[in-house]
Amino acid sequence: MIKTLGYAAHSATASLDAFHFERREPGPQDVQIEILYCGVCHSDIHTARNEWKNSVYPVVPGHEIVGRVTQVGNEVTTFKAGDLAGVGCMVDSCGTCPDCHESLEQYCTNSPTFTYNSPDPHTGKMTYGGYSQRVVVNQRFVLRVSEKLNLPAVAPLLCAGITTYSPLREWKVGKGQKVGVVGLGGLGHMGVKFAHALGAHTVLFTTTPGKAADGQRLGADEVVISKNPEEMQRHLGSFDFILNTVAAPHNLDAYLELLKRDGTMCLVGAPEDPHPSPNVFNLIFRRRRLVGSLIGGIKETQEMLDFCAEHDIVSDIEMIPMQKINEAYERMLRSDVKYRFVIDMASLK
Ligand code: NAP
Ligand code: ZN
Repeated sequence: MIKTLGYAAHSATASLDAFHFERREPGPQDVQIEILYCGVCHSDIHTARNEWKNSVYPVVPGHEIVGRVTQVGNEVTTFKAGDLAGVGCMVDSCGTCPDCHESLEQYCTNSPTFTYNSPDPHTGKMTYGGYSQRVVVNQRFVLRVSEKLNLPAVAPLLCAGITTYSPLREWKVGKGQKVGVVGLGGLGHMGVKFAHALGAHTVLFTTTPGKAADGQRLGADEVVISKNPEEMQRHLGSFDFILNTVAAPHNLDAYLELLKRDGTMCLVGAPEDPHPSPNVFNLIFRRRRLVGSLIGGIKETQEMLDFCAEHDIVSDIEMIPMQKINEAYERMLRSDVKYRFVIDMASLK
C-alpha cells in the first residue's frame, strides 16, 4: 500500500483538513500518477457537505486531476513513467454493458466507479479523489494531456470541460445557431468558450453584472443580466440551445420561453434542492425539449482534450494552496471565482 496525504471532510459541517490514507499498489492495468494540480468543482462542495445525501465520510473530493505518471503496471501500453496524464470524474466502469460498449461509461448500467465518494471494488471502502498527492487508476480511465497547454489550467477540463463539451456536441451546436449558456462559473465559462469555438452565436446569462466584460472576453457575443426581465424578454423564442450550469434551484420557465420551436435546454447543474417544476405549456406549445447530461465518456473526454490542444483552449483559473480550500468553497458559494480554483498540490506536505 502507498501512504498518501490528502484533504478530507469528516462530516457535512466540518472544514476540510489533512487526512492520511493508502492507495493500492498499481496492478498490471494500473497507472500511478503524482498529482500536480486539481481543480475545484462545485460537485466537491455538494459532496463534502452531503448536499446530495449520499456522502460517506471521510470524503476526499477532487475530480479534475492532472499530474505525471510515476509507475505503470506490466500490461499498460499507452502510458509510461514521466508522461503527463489526466483523470476526471470516473476511475472505472463494468466495461461490458451496452453503455460502456458505446463509450458512454458515465451511464454504465452497473454504475461507474466515480473518482471520489464511490464504492471502491479494490479496497472495499470509498474512493478518494484528487485533493491528494497521488492516485492509482486503471489505464482505461487515464487521459492523455498535451505538453503544450498551461498544465494547471488544463485540470478543470477533466470535469468542467467535458461536462459542457459533451452536450454541445450531442445536440450538434455550431455555426448559424443561437446558443445560451446560463451561469458564469467553472462549467459556464467553459461552455462559453466551447460554444464560441464551435461557431455558434453565443449568449451568456449571468446574475452577476460585474461578469459581463469577462463574458465577452471569454467568447460571448452578447451578455444578458438574467435578473433583468426586459433584457430577458428581448430574446423570447430565439434560441436553438441553452446550456444551464446553475448550481441552485431557479425558475426554468424564464429560459424555456427563450427557446425556438424544437429548441432544447440542457441542465447540467445539479442543485441540492429541486427546481420548481416548469410549466408544461412552455414545452408542448413549441415542442421544446428539456434534457440533462452527465459529464462525458472517456473517448469523448480525450476528443475534448485534443480539441482544446488544437484550439488553444484552457480554463481561466486562480491557483490556491491546499490550505485555502475552505475559503475557496465560501468564495464559490458567493459566485466569487474567476473562473475555477485550482489547487497546487506542491503545497500539500
Ligand atoms: P460554480 O463555479 O459555482 O458556478 C455556478 C454558477 O451558477 C455561479 O458562478 C453563478 O453564475 C450561477 N449561480 C449560482 N447560484 C445561482 C442562483 N441562485 N441563481 C442563478 N445563478 C446562480 O459551479 P460549477 O462548478 O460550474 O458547477 C455548476 C453545477 O454543475 C453544480 O451543481 C455542479 O455540481 C454541477 N455539475 C454537474 C456535472 C454533470 O455532469 N452534470 C458535472 C460537474 C458539475 P453567475 O454569477 O454568472 O450567475
Ligand atoms: Zn465536477
